[in-house]
Amino acid sequence: MATLLDGKTLAKNVRSEVKERVMTLMEKHDVQPHLTVVLVGGDPASQTYVRGKERACKNAHIKSTVIRKDNDVSEDELLGIIDDLNEDDSVHGILVQLPLPDHINEERVIERISPKKDVDGFTAINVAHLMAGDDTLAPCTPKGIIRILDAYDIDIEGKECVVIGRSQIVGKPMAHLLLNRNGTVTVCHSRTKQIEQVAKRADILVVAVGRAHMVDESFVKPGAAVIDVGISKVDGKLRGDVAFDEVEPVAGYITPVPGGVGPMTIATLLENTITCYKRIVGA
Ligand code: NAP
Repeated sequence: MATLLDGKTLAKNVRSEVKERVMTLMEKHDVQPHLTVVLVGGDPASQTYVRGKERACKNAHIKSTVIRKDNDVSEDELLGIIDDLNEDDSVHGILVQLPLPDHINEERVIERISPKKDVDGFTAINVAHLMAGDDTLAPCTPKGIIRILDAYDIDIEGKECVVIGRSQIVGKPMAHLLLNRNGTVTVCHSRTKQIEQVAKRADILVVAVGRAHMVDESFVKPGAAVIDVGISKVDGKLRGDVAFDEVEPVAGYITPVPGGVGPMTIATLLENTITCYKRIVGA
């Protein structure tokens, strides 16, 4: 039976550590860390994620502001908002909730964020830092996954690591973070041939595709650590990319969905906000 990687409890611990750090920093610098989220349109999933981020900030004594714009906001207006936030000394972190509507060039908007306030680690400069091995502002989901592996003493160095999915948000930064920790990394995607065999090499298997229960036991080497990033809604229920009931008896470690990777994403966002704050106030 696999050990359950309990991201929910770990995230709770990280959030209370962040809260303590915030109290200490505020005593010393008399400035409250401040994260601003820009939310465009009424996508229910985005609204839920943003509410979760607001709640987590509040509990950690981080000020959070949400700038809400209608779906028909122009790209120029959005870029102007980012410019103002970049200039505003009271704002330490900026996050643009994705996806943006089709008429807006996401890349241009993200690139407008000052790299020092880029809590998601999506700007080209922060991506370059990650590739160079400096991962302080790495994207929250993959960084949270590394925290889970570390918390359960799952060694990365020299291990076969397979990442399924190559998005800018999860798959690619995940591969770099594992490589930075001396894993031997393979990235799979929709054109990968014989994907089960490739996945089965993995000591650490990270799945970030978005296809419910795509990974069954035929993908998993006995004893592997299986990290399920996927979130799909099927019949009103959240499902991961991993068929938990089939994989759990084979794996050595496994994250549940929900309660695995998701909570650590938000906890890592708080940590990245503190990193930005410390750089800006010179702490
Ligand atoms: P994405 O941008 O849609 O990327 C999906 C990736 O999966 C692509 O690289 C795609 O390959 C690959 N893929 C698609 N079908 C495949 C197949 N049959 N076999 C192998 N690879 C396949 O998605 P994402 O933003 O990375 O998100 C992935 C999932 O994680 C989603 O369910 C999302 O909701 C979830 N997520 C969860 C969290 C969290 O905090 N828990 C955070 C972010 C995302 P190509 O590149 O070849 O198209």
